[in-house]
Amino acid sequence: MPAQLLQGKPIAEAIKSEVAAEVMGLHFRPGLAVVRVGEDPASAVYVGSKVRTTEELGMYSEHIHMQPDITQAELLNIVRELNARNDIDGILVQLPLPGHINDREILEAIDPAKDVDGFHPMNVGRLSQGLESLVPCTPAGVIEILKRSNIEIAGRHAVVIGRSNIVGKPMAMLLLQENATVTICHSRTRDLPAITRQADILIAAIGRAGFVRGEHIGENAAVVDVGINNVSDKDFAAELFSEEDLPKRLAAIEKRGFTLVGDVNPKEAMERAGSFTPVPGGVGLLTVAMLMKNTVAAAVMRRGA
Ligand code: NDP
Repeated sequence: MPAQLLQGKPIAEAIKSEVAAEVMGLHFRPGLAVVRVGEDPASAVYVGSKVRTTEELGMYSEHIHMQPDITQAELLNIVRELNARNDIDGILVQLPLPGHINDREILEAIDPAKDVDGFHPMNVGRLSQGLESLVPCTPAGVIEILKRSNIEIAGRHAVVIGRSNIVGKPMAMLLLQENATVTICHSRTRDLPAITRQADILIAAIGRAGFVRGEHIGENAAVVDVGINNVSDKDFAAELFSEEDLPKRLAAIEKRGFTLVGDVNPKEAMERAGSFTPVPGGVGLLTVAMLMKNTVAAAVMRRGA
C-alpha cells in the first residue's frame, strides 16, 4: 500500500486560525519586525510571505529592508532599537546575511524574549533544559505535523538525519521532550541505512535532493522530509518521481528551470513508508505558521494576555 501523504496545508491553516483567534482575544496588537539585508531572491519570497501572513492574522508587521553594504554596527543598532520598542514582540533577521556581517553577533543581540526564530543561545539552552522557550519554527512545525496526524511519538524510535542548529539539533531536542528515543545522524555516521531503517519516525534535514532512498526507510515508518532543493536535471527527476507525478515535474523544469524536491526520494518513500510529508506541500508550509504562533507566544509572555 502506498504511504499516507501528510499534507501540511490543512495543519498550517488550522494553526493560523488558532493564532488569529488568540490575537482577537488580546487587548493589544502583537507586532513582528522582519529585517532583510540585500536582494537575495529566496529571502525576498520568504519575507514577503511572513509579512503578508502576519497582517492576515491581525498582527502588526514591519519590514525593514537594508542595503547589502550595511555595516555590522548599523545592523546591530537596528536590532537594539527593535529590542527597546514595546510595540514589537518578535524580531526576525532573515538569513543568509551578506558575508561581511557576523550573523552570530546579530542573532545574539536580539532580546531572547523577542527571538521568534528561537536561535538565541538563551532559548536554545532553555529548550535543552525542557524550560518554556521560543522554539525554532521548522522543527516545531514537524512536531505539529506528527501530533495532528495522530502519529505517536512517545516511546518510539525517532532518527534525525542532520545536526544543524536551525533544524537537526532542535528537532532532536523536541522529539526527546515528547519522550521519543532519539538518534541523531550526520555526515560522519557509519552505515547510515542500517540506523535509519530502525526508525519509527525518520526526519531528513540534510540539504541533498532525494538523498534518502528506499534502503534507508523501515517498513511503515513515518518519514518527514524537511529538505527543500531545486532539481533541474530531467534524468534525475525521472529517478525521483512516480509515473503519475513525473509529467508535471518535467513541465515545471521546462517552464521555470527547476522543480522542488526534498531530501527524500519521494517515489521510493511512497513505496516503503507508512506515511510521508510531500515537498512542496509538507513541512515548508508549517514554518510560517509556527512563526506566527511564536510571535503571539512571545507577545503574551512579555506583555501578558
Ligand atoms: P545544513 O547544511 O546546515 O545541515 C545539513 C546536515 O546534514 C548536517 O548536519 C550534515 O552533517 C548532514 N549531512 C550532510 N550530508 C550527509 C550525509 N551524506 N549523510 C548524513 N548526513 C549528512 O542544513 P539545514 O539543517 O539548514 O537544512 C537542511 C535541509 O532543510 C535543507 O534542504 C534546507 O533547505 C531545508 N530547510 C527547510 C526549511 C523549511 O522551512 N522546510 C527550513 C530550514 C531548512 P555534518 O554536520 O556532519 O556536516
